[in-house]
Amino acid sequence: MHPLVPVAVTATTEIIRGALRLRVNVAYTQALRAAGLLPLVLPVLDPEDADAALDGVAGLVLTGGEDVDPARYRATPHPKLGDVHAGRDAFEIALVQAARARGLPTLAICRGVQILNVALGGTLVQDIATEWTNPNVHDGEWARTARVHEVEITPGSRLARALGTERPVVNSMHHQAVGTVAPSLAMVARAPDGIVEGVEWPTDDWWLVGVQWHPEELWASDEPWDRNLFAAFTEVVRRGVTVS
Ligand code: MN
Repeated sequence: MHPLVPVAVTATTEIIRGALRLRVNVAYTQALRAAGLLPLVLPVLDPEDADAALDGVAGLVLTGGEDVDPARYRATPHPKLGDVHAGRDAFEIALVQAARARGLPTLAICRGVQILNVALGGTLVQDIATEWTNPNVHDGEWARTARVHEVEITPGSRLARALGTERPVVNSMHHQAVGTVAPSLAMVARAPDGIVEGVEWPTDDWWLVGVQWHPEELWASDEPWDRNLFAAFTEVVRRGVTVS
């Protein structure tokens, strides 16, 4: 029996019943625990705390949430821009830089892949429905577990190997997406309309995978792909831990 290995999971803050509270969807912690990891939810801290926040964990998960402030990628706000969270943006950008400096295995999901791309110098599509030509519908009234569009994954990529498929059908709950891919990242997944659905670090010195869909909502799905992704993350996280 392997011991549970701790990984940091980002969260947001939100006023709920009159108090500012820390919040993260339970699906993330369930999916990580099911994969054999111990999810530890990080509060939103100052950027200068990011490096210390990663001490004692063997991986980082950047979770979904608000739109990234377009000022972070030198764009003016689109009329369809949703809620932004300046403090969360600042902390998560610092977490990306701290994780990169220590080569900490990192899984970025939805907003996570967006803040990752911005942290490394890329841009975002602020509103797919109004800014993209002939888009698929990426944000509908469907269930969070509904597999609604196909994704084409680059053969041989870390993401393809992790999923065990090059053509998954995924869930989709986003109105923004990666725009210009950061120079240091490899684009490894696209929806049929060309929207970026996955990126990764191209070399073996950092296990970094980002996806635009929500694998944490699909870990108990009939199809094994999203479980496989968490299993691949767990494997690399465990590899980084020295058992004394
Ligand atoms: Mn999508």
